[in-house]
Amino acid sequence: MRVNITLECTSCHERTYLTSKNRRHNPDRLELNKYCPRERKVTLHRETK
Ligand SMILES: [Zn+2]
Repeated sequence: MRVNITLECTSCHERTYLTSKNRRHNPDRLELNKYCPRERKVTLHRETK
């Protein structure tokens, strides 16, 4: 039931993280605060489709 997703930085749109999620537990788009190496700070990252 787990699907692979990509997390994209919402400020520079760098796709930095690959992860997986459970579609049943998280039907909506995931949003996580992650470190962006391009900006060298923590930014909001969102699941891409
Ligand atoms: Zn960024």
